[in-house]
This record gives sequence, structure tokens and C-alpha cells, in this order.
Amino acid sequence: MAATETQAEQTLLDAVPKQLFIGGAWRDASGGATLPVEDPATGQTLVEIADATVDDAKAALAAADEAFKTFRNHPPRERGDILRRAYDLIIQREDDLALLMTLEMGKPISESKAEITYAANFFRWYAEEAVRINGRFSVNESGAGRVLTMKQPIGPCLFITPWNFPLAMGTRKIGPAIAAGCTMVVKPAKQTPLSMLALAAILEEAGLPKGVLNVVTSHSSGEIMEPLIRDPRLRKMSFTGSTPVGRKLIEQSAEQVLKVSMELGGNAPFLIFQDADLDAAVEGALIAKMRNGGEACTSANRFHVHESVAAEFAQKLAARIGAFKVGRGTEDDVKMGPLIDEAQRSKVAELVEDAVAKGASVLTGGSRVDGPGYFYEPTVLTDISPDADLLSEEIFGPVAPIIGFSTEEEAIAAANDTEYGLVAYVFTNDLTRAFRVVEALETGMIGLNQGMVSNAGAPFGGVKQSGFGREGGPEGMEEYLETKYVAMNV
Ligand code: NAP
Repeated sequence: MAATETQAEQTLLDAVPKQLFIGGAWRDASGGATLPVEDPATGQTLVEIADATVDDAKAALAAADEAFKTFRNHPPRERGDILRRAYDLIIQREDDLALLMTLEMGKPISESKAEITYAANFFRWYAEEAVRINGRFSVNESGAGRVLTMKQPIGPCLFITPWNFPLAMGTRKIGPAIAAGCTMVVKPAKQTPLSMLALAAILEEAGLPKGVLNVVTSHSSGEIMEPLIRDPRLRKMSFTGSTPVGRKLIEQSAEQVLKVSMELGGNAPFLIFQDADLDAAVEGALIAKMRNGGEACTSANRFHVHESVAAEFAQKLAARIGAFKVGRGTEDDVKMGPLIDEAQRSKVAELVEDAVAKGASVLTGGSRVDGPGYFYEPTVLTDISPDADLLSEEIFGPVAPIIGFSTEEEAIAAANDTEYGLVAYVFTNDLTRAFRVVEALETGMIGLNQGMVSNAGAPFGGVKQSGFGREGGPEGMEEYLETKYVAMNV
């Protein structure tokens, strides 16, 4: 099979930037090395891009540090206007950006478009926030003296992003950082760097001053990131990715007492009570489980369903999920693309094999799809043993384990029985139960009678080992601002 299947795909890949973006210039990696970007639907190389060295990463931080000297005072209105122009350009080019995202990441075009809208919304939202950075003024409690506070941009930032949402995981950091007057180095995941490189070109076209955004791509993230994290010029790191890598980066960040945001893994419980609208719960489950093929930190990892409705829910979900068309994301009507790579597919397969070996029943799916690419069948499992690994590990694939419960207390205890705490979903039509359960769940976010929480104007983030810090909404802006207090002797 050819690496690309149509002329439109080839034209797009020819046009996308493949170099590093440092100090406003596109350049090859020092030493000239490149790394391949693969189409997960075929396993073929799409393009080669620059493979940055430690020196390149240091040059990117130097550029961000230099640019901060002026960008911190760049007029807020103009910072907002740059974001707004970039928003407009993203929306205008949605079709090309969606195709590019599908080629490198695999998700269906319709899902790539949904991500692009979501990603662009962070730029529109923070375009509006750039001119609303306020301090406060108050009279000391003694009556003598005054309290003045001001908000200032924190400084050069480092953003490390994952492959599952190649654009949105970048814009929800870049948007508030630009609005606040910060500069940055971005390192996208090696599997999906093309969307971020295309975004850098859009921000350049939108008039972002040189050096404010720098993008480095590399096959050796650990090696090129660690010197930056230990560099005193860096003032902020925001990481989205797995909890084990996040833990390592927190350790590195201790040296400079770096301000850090961590958007880490999840193990989202999806609770369905006996009083829920079961059809609405199925619709919510399809979104919470199958959006992004289950490769989302917010993906429902386990369905805890009241025993009186569990069998009916399982049948309905299996019928819907089993009908999903699996294929290359560029094909019509495909609802489930490939997983990102063989390692991810093997992990999903092992989790299903482990559950089945411990007694699980397969209602639909349960196997790899033969042929090229990393496809796995959408899967629904019941009769899950309490020691099945998929209850405690992040599945990151299209597998829905369904477990029954008998009491509300039991459901809450099961939901909280994890070191993660990103998001939970609750379906009930009983208002008092809804409040009780929402207050008892140990997560940063909850979808109440809905299967998705992502929203540019709302604070996204977790508790426990899902991390700390928030992205989106006014809370997302605070991550890039320092508060300075002036004690005034007046
Ligand atoms: P990952 O392996 O942790 O990688 C995330 C990013 O970190 C990539 O850019 C990766 O680069 C880089 N990286 C890996 N090792 C590093 C190191 N030693 N030093 C510096 N950077 C390093 O995670 P992933 O597999 O890409 O993404 C899936 C994970 O992200 C899941 O656990 C998911 O739950 C989580 N996630 C969380 C959120 C949230 O908001 N909470 C959102 C989306 C995803 P390379 O891959 O190029 O080496």
C-alpha cells in the first residue's frame, strides 16, 4: 500500500512544515537528523521531520527567553488579536488540518474536525481574556496603608504534549500563555508532530512576534527536555501525558522549584443508577468511551451499572459499539480508526486477554483486526473479575468493561478505588442522589448525565495522580500569571 492514498494527501504532506521553528525561523536540526512520522492506518512513513538535538532545544529556550523581554509588555489587545486571527485561520483551514491530523493520528475525519473546533476555541476564548488581566486595590485592615496586587506573566514556558489530541493539547496551553504575555518552547509527541508544526505556521501568519513560540520535534524527548527543565531561565512547565512520565518530570522540576502543571492519566468510572434514562446513558457512554477510539484521558475506563439495569445496558451498548465501522479515518462512515501504534494495540489486547482469562464474557469485539495498521475491534465485556487488570489500568482503547453494583455506597467506593482522579460520569434522574454522588467522587471533573466535559471556558484537570493545575476558563489563565503584592505606605 502506498504511504498516501490520494493526491490531496500528498499535496498536504508536501506543504506541511518539517523543520524546527526557533526564534521565528524554520530550520533543520543541527546535525541534520530526521525522524519518520507514520500513518497508523498503514504502518507506512508519511514524511520525515527534523529530529532536534539538545543544542536545538537550548536554542529554542534562548529564543523564548529573549522574546520574553519584549513580549511581556506587548499590548494585551494585540496579544488577543493575534489569537483571534489564528482562530480564524484554523477554522478557515479546518479541512486540511483535519486531514493532516487523521493521517498522523488515525482518528476519523469527523473526530479530527471536532478536535480542531475544540482546539481553536481555546484561542478564541483566551483572545477575549488577554484584555481582562486585573489586580486589586484595598485598604489595609488597620486603615493605614494600602494593598495593591498586580498580575504579571510568569515567563518562558515549556509545553510537552501527547499524541492523542495533537492540536488541542497544545492550544489549551499556548492560548492562555500568549494571552498572559508568556513565551514558550513546545515539544509535541513524536507520533503526531505535524498538527503542531502546522499550528506554528498559522501563528506566524497571524503575526506572533519571533521567538514567542518555538517548536522542537525529537525522537529523544527525555534527553532534550531535561536540560531545559533544569535551566533557571525556564519559569513554567505544563505537561500532558502519562502519570509515570509526569512523575519523572516533577522530580526534575524540583531543582529549579519550577512552577508546574500536570495533566496526567485517568481511569474514569461511568456510573449508571437504576433511576437513569438508560438510552441517554447509552448515548453518553458512546461518547465517553468511543470518542478518540478510547484513546483519551477522559475515556470511560469502567462502567459501574446498577444490577437491575446492567444486562439491558450491556446489550444496548454492545449493539451500538458492535456496529461501528472500523477503518482508515479518511474513509466515509468510519467511526473507529486505528490505535496509535503496535505498542498501544498490544497493551489493549493484553488487558482484554487478562480479563477473559479471569472469566470475562465478550459481548462484542475482543480481537485485533487483521491486515496493515493497528486496528482493534470495539469491545464490550461483562462478568469482570475484581482482579482484572483493566479495572485498575488506563485501557486507552475501545474496550468497555461493565460491572454491576447493588448500592450507591458500593458504586461510590468502586469509583474512588483508584490512584487516578481526572473525571467521572454519573447518570441519574434523582437530583438529591446526583448531588450526593458528585460531592463524594474524588475527581477534578464530573459529567452529570453527559458523556463529555471538555470545554474551552471550563477548568479541565484532575486530582490525586491525575495531576494538578487547570486548563481552560479563567483558571487556565492563572497558570501563566504571577501575583505581585505591593504593601503601600499611604
Ligand atoms: P507519554 O508517553 O507520557 O508522552 C507524553 C509526552 O511526553 C510526549 O510528548 C512524549 O514525547 C513526552 N515524553 C515522554 N517521555 C519523556 C521524558 N522522559 N521527558 C520529557 N518528555 C517525555 O504519554 P502519551 O502516551 O503520549 O499520552 C497518553 C497519556 O497522556 C495517557 O496517560 C493520557 O491519559 C494522558 N493524557 C492526559 C490528558 C489530561 O489532560 N489529563 C490529556 C491527554 C492525554 P515522545 O512520545 O515524543 O517521546
